[in-house]
Amino acid sequence: MTAVPAFAAPTAGVPLQRTTIERRPVGENDVLIEIKYVGICHTDIHHVRDDWGRGGFPLVPGHEIAGVVAEVGPGVTGYQVGDRVGVGCMVDSCRKCENCRNGQEVYCTGGGLVATYADTMRYTDGAPTQGGYSTQIVVDERFVLGIPEGLSLEQAAPLLCAGITTYSPLRHWNAGPGRKVAVIGLGGLGHLGVKFAHALGAEVTVLSQSLRKKDDGLRLGADHYYATSDPKTFEELAGAFDLILNTVSASLDGDAYLSLLRTDGTMVYLGVPEKPLSVNMPSLMMGRKSIASSGIGGIPETQEMLDFAAANGIRADVEVISADEIEQAYDRVLRSDVRYRFVIDNSTI
Ligand code: NAP
Ligand code: ZN
Ligand code: ZN
Repeated sequence: MTAVPAFAAPTAGVPLQRTTIERRPVGENDVLIEIKYVGICHTDIHHVRDDWGRGGFPLVPGHEIAGVVAEVGPGVTGYQVGDRVGVGCMVDSCRKCENCRNGQEVYCTGGGLVATYADTMRYTDGAPTQGGYSTQIVVDERFVLGIPEGLSLEQAAPLLCAGITTYSPLRHWNAGPGRKVAVIGLGGLGHLGVKFAHALGAEVTVLSQSLRKKDDGLRLGADHYYATSDPKTFEELAGAFDLILNTVSASLDGDAYLSLLRTDGTMVYLGVPEKPLSVNMPSLMMGRKSIASSGIGGIPETQEMLDFAAANGIRADVEVISADEIEQAYDRVLRSDVRYRFVIDNSTI
């Protein structure tokens, strides 16, 4: 075991503190990664505040990890020391079920994915998982991604969660030329959703609480930008969209947003609010509309997304911070004042 510095939440709702955690020795198929940057996902905040009641404290968050390979096990074939790599939201799965065999590890039915933090390595030694707010991590190469040339590590880190979480549903529900896509919420997920939807050729509309970030939204690739605080938005855009990605971390009026879908349209919930969703059935029935959801994406699709991002000049818009600024960054995310992802410089941990 190797002791490495980290930032951890000791219990729910308490500021993160400097600490030391243990990383396992590098095994046969493991890659030891020197973490250079880690993105702050809203999911980290949900966990640290225990919004979902999942516990898992003390908790080292962080699942948008970008770094450099420092050591590889003897069985590793895909990576070498010095390679630029990333790790996202999962570090293991059963590897045997149909979904795992098809590269959909996120939907593992043989016991479920092992999350990068607040989980246990249930298929191996049962150790708790600890995330990327630390300086090193040891991960089986099957769950390591290659970061292509041309993507800087700090701009690539958020792609490992926010990027794949928006790319995967856009591909699954055929965002492309001739399709009208709306993105609700211009935060970490939302800004990458806009970039990917635009690059895929869709007509993109941002639905934000206000027009405060309109110039940014249009610069990021949106064709239209509306404030949801204005009731006229819902009249003007009634029946407008084939696909809506809802990236909001809070509960919204489901019926109001479903009225924006055209017949056979789909609303994909990506945000994970604390409260269950409530909608009136006619909101779906009258227009044969669908409510769906989607979780990150599988490992092969995550690599495809990184390659697509590099080829299309897509990077996260980031604000790099030191580890001592995590609390202020969390506050700003909670106030919807993030432009558009905070990324921690891990050399400050
Ligand atoms: P974020 O950066 O905080 O962005 C969320 C955006 O939602 C905000 O910037 C804001 O945009 C809007 N918003 C916030 N509160 C709102 C409210 N009360 N009413 C209306 N709009 C509001 O968060 P994120 O990191 O993108 O994550 C978003 C959600 O996705 C979280 O719940 C997270 O846990 C979840 N998530 C899910 C997956 C998955 O696999 N499905 C993966 C990652 C994250 P405007 O200022 O533009 O309105
Ligand atoms: Zn995330
Ligand atoms: Zn499986």
